[in-house]
Amino acid sequence: MTYAVPVPTPPSLPISGSDTLFPVRRVFCVGRNYGDHAREMGADPNREPPFFFLKPADAVFAPEGARGTSPTVPYPPQTADLHHEVELVVALGQGGTRIDPADALGTVWGYGVGVDLTRRDLQAEAKSLRRPWDLAKGFDLSGPCSALRPVSEVGHPDRGRIWLDVDGKLRQEGDLGDQIWTVAEIITHLSRSITLCPGDLLFTGTPAGVGALARGSSVTAGIDGVAELSFTIA
Ligand code: MN
Repeated sequence: MTYAVPVPTPPSLPISGSDTLFPVRRVFCVGRNYGDHAREMGADPNREPPFFFLKPADAVFAPEGARGTSPTVPYPPQTADLHHEVELVVALGQGGTRIDPADALGTVWGYGVGVDLTRRDLQAEAKSLRRPWDLAKGFDLSGPCSALRPVSEVGHPDRGRIWLDVDGKLRQEGDLGDQIWTVAEIITHLSRSITLCPGDLLFTGTPAGVGALARGSSVTAGIDGVAELSFTIA
């Protein structure tokens, strides 16, 4: 078989302590999964079913600096209000349709921490015009993510501090236990709409404190006991 244009290298994330890569198939992101963030965005956090948007698979990447330099993420075009959203990232090792809640965590390969970078001004415009969020959320390099860690190392984290610093100052802080929809519930819910596959990632929503990044902002984010991620906006 030949192809008309060069076949792209599959997007992937590194695995902590391993030379093996995790291939990224699709990236499903949950909106408003912490009550305090839903409120800060002007929404009612109570009992709204989870909703989803997607990023392109190649929007997700692990920022790496050349030897002796810190990793950088470019400030994207077409925005004057780039926001950070720190999120627990779930990497699926198995797929399925109509996954039973009791079986949902069995599909998880591992976890990491990612930042759902958002062109907030474009998102606000899309919301007001009832248009899709794709270009507000799914731009190039909009999903910096840590190396992944397998369930055999970190278990299934359902409690623990999730946080993000900008220039050494705490901006976002929450607890995984405050998620409105658990990882298992998210998997079950999504699998009723589409067939989940190995390699799919879930960005599971962000706690309160989202805010703007500027060129030169130094971001450090983490989930205690799971992973950390650092990069500078260039
Ligand atoms: Mn988000």
